[in-house]
Amino acid sequence: MHWIILQASSSADGAQSFFDSPWWNFATLMTKAVLVALWLALGVWTYKDARRRMTDSLMIAISVATALVFPYVGALFYMILRPPEYLEDVIERDLEIRAKEQELVDAVDLCPACRQPVRGDFLICPKCRRRLKTACHKCGKPLESGWKICPYCEAEMRSPATASAPLAAEDELFA
Ligand SMILES: [Zn+2]
Ligand SMILES: [Zn+2]
Repeated sequence: MHWIILQASSSADGAQSFFDSPWWNFATLMTKAVLVALWLALGVWTYKDARRRMTDSLMIAISVATALVFPYVGALFYMILRPPEYLEDVIERDLEIRAKEQELVDAVDLCPACRQPVRGDFLICPKCRRRLKTACHKCGKPLESGWKICPYCEAEMRSPATASAPLAAEDELFA
């Protein structure tokens, strides 16, 4: 009976000595170190990621604080709630839009003589009086050179060579 108690106590000592052993201490210490390192790494990652997505330093601070105060899940919350785009992508898109707008501005006609912007329906440059387009002889709308028919009133275009002669004949008829 005494021997059994001894045996039991010695096995309990064995289990106790395993949890007191340097190996166990080392394993728990390493696990804790890894968890702390992961926690800190998530905080650093949140800081870096937030800086690429936000300009407001208060929002960046709140993001990092969330990641640190709520270990592991805080960074997860941040990932769900963070702005979807990097700032550099937003800036790049703004630049692209501005370039497109500039292209549109450039597409407005320029007077070939004085380079002043002129509207597509101008017949003459208001700055330097250069003729830009000819008017339809029937409806007076501005016509592009090379058009064979007026798209507004369907009047046939006269070629410059023959334009004057029939017109003169018409004038004589009406005179
Ligand atoms: Zn001009
Ligand atoms: Zn016309």
